[in-house]
Amino acid sequence: MTFINQNQIRNFIICAHIDHGKSTLADRFLELTNTIPKDKMRPQYLDMMDLEREKGITIKMQPVRMNYTLNAKPYTLNLIDTPGHVDFSYEVSRSLAAVEGTILLVDATKGIQAQTLANLELATKQGLIIIPVINKIDSPQAKIKETKEEIAKLFKKPEDEIFEISAKLGTNVVRLLDAVIEKVPPPIGYIEKPFKALIFDSKYDIHKGIIAYVRVFDGTIKRDEKIYLMRQKTEGSVKEIGYFKPELKSIEELKAGEIGYIATGIKEPGKVRVGDTITKISNFKFQISNLNIEPLPGYQEPEPMVFASISPENPDDFGLLKEAVERLKLNDASFIFEAEMREYLGRGFRCGFLGLLHAEIITERLKREFGLNLVLSTPSVIYKSITKEKKERLIYTSADWLDPSRIEEVQELWVKIQILTPLRYFGPISELLTDIEANHINTDYLVTEKAELIYESPLREIITKNFYDKLKSVSQGFASMSYEILDWRKANLVKLDILILGKKEESFSRIVSEKDAHKEGKKLVEKLKETLPSQLFAVPIQAAVGGKIIARENIKAKRRDVIAPLYGGDYTRKRKLLEKQKKGKKELKEKGEIHIPASVFLEIFRG
Ligand code: GDP
Ligand code: MG
Repeated sequence: MTFINQNQIRNFIICAHIDHGKSTLADRFLELTNTIPKDKMRPQYLDMMDLEREKGITIKMQPVRMNYTLNAKPYTLNLIDTPGHVDFSYEVSRSLAAVEGTILLVDATKGIQAQTLANLELATKQGLIIIPVINKIDSPQAKIKETKEEIAKLFKKPEDEIFEISAKLGTNVVRLLDAVIEKVPPPIGYIEKPFKALIFDSKYDIHKGIIAYVRVFDGTIKRDEKIYLMRQKTEGSVKEIGYFKPELKSIEELKAGEIGYIATGIKEPGKVRVGDTITKISNFKFQISNLNIEPLPGYQEPEPMVFASISPENPDDFGLLKEAVERLKLNDASFIFEAEMREYLGRGFRCGFLGLLHAEIITERLKREFGLNLVLSTPSVIYKSITKEKKERLIYTSADWLDPSRIEEVQELWVKIQILTPLRYFGPISELLTDIEANHINTDYLVTEKAELIYESPLREIITKNFYDKLKSVSQGFASMSYEILDWRKANLVKLDILILGKKEESFSRIVSEKDAHKEGKKLVEKLKETLPSQLFAVPIQAAVGGKIIARENIKAKRRDVIAPLYGGDYTRKRKLLEKQKKGKKELKEKGEIHIPASVFLEIFRG
């Protein structure tokens, strides 16, 4: 094998707004470098989770190592494909800290969108080399010239430094990969120095235990060496090391500048945290005497925006759920959870997510990857109540809602929204903004035909009204947005309860704006009528605010055809069966129990 030194390593990521073609470009690179044999290739190869393939979006960053020769010199390229949706932006910011450069793609049919700007800002802050690329030049809708002007202006780059490619057809992709080698600097780091690596991701592997995805900054590491996680102050022993093929491929040694994985030999999931620095124990003891090893800067943890309670359908599964959330967190550092006891839901976890899509993906992963049946509360943004005694209390889910007589004031978070849109969608977008009670702050005409709108609005409106999806649909996918938290402001809110068979189903309760309560109540009972499976008895569904019923629907009883198999004849048996069925219905009804499948909860969240 040829010896590769650091000058022959390049670490880079592909980032872009959702759907601009990151994973497709990664496919071309994988082919070009023969990383994936032709017969194994499939579109968006690096979207390895079933869930990613079903939804057609990238959820997880995915590193992969490729070998490539340029001017007769062999190179090792470590590429990380990243997700584009805002809910997974923490994945992008973490990948940025592991590399020296980024390809920033812009779809020529859409132009610059909100996440393009967000990524540009992140990459600039991180001091990365940015290679701007226009993708989809093969599309009949491509506006290459306009897109180039936009990029030149907003990225402050000369037009001749902007690449034009088709990731789909492979046009100019070789030139782009050559440019990565020429423009992205090799990693700086010293093999002779004490070992130091940044954990940028992790996962739980049934065979190998807790695996840390690392970027080695200094030194080298081998199997069986003793490691030390500096922030968590935890020791481990290396069970295996390797790189991403993208599957895990074990090797003898990882060196300064490389990206790879370390099977840590650590048993407790909570001890391996992204952003932590791994050193070797021998180094660390050294440090106490003289060598000054500082942990790497790590990451600013993201603020969860949406909360929901999750508990097992079967209370005996609490232990399994605990293990599942801990293991899942290893692979999704933006997901937070805390054990709780709920009057209605039983023992479970209060979970924080970066948005509704994130909440949906986590729930789905808990179900699929751990085979758990779950009961979930409606995801809600966080509120703050100030009691008559001036005590502040955070309201994570509707179950935290206090009796209105005890509350002086309820507050909610406001956000600054930044929308990037072609001018032709101004009309419908303004209507949407009126609908979410947004205040206009500023309009900036960025480039020809495109403007940046700045508004402020309650976070609740953005989340619960699926503003992002609506914006996409009224603008045919051309408008895009991002938002950031501003401050707490006074809110007029009430708790909307749902009663099924006259019994309050806390998991469907939600906090809504007072003026929307009727509309929301009606919508919710109608939706429940559609989604709840019918029972052997009639099921009334009611919406209530402060004990007052504001909407109702009825699910008709389903007739179970108990006598169908008994054709004709035996009247007494028929009657006996009918009586038995009647009694069964009564018993079920008295228990007041109906089984609510997890699919119903998910359906209801989607609104
Ligand atoms: P990502 O979300 O940025 O990873 O985007 P994907 O790689 O999943 O691509 C999104 C969609 O754009 C897919 O339907 C691709 O087939 C399509 N696409 C990607 N690159 C090109 C291209 O160069 N030309 C055309 N016409 N379509 C492309
Ligand atoms: Mg993708």
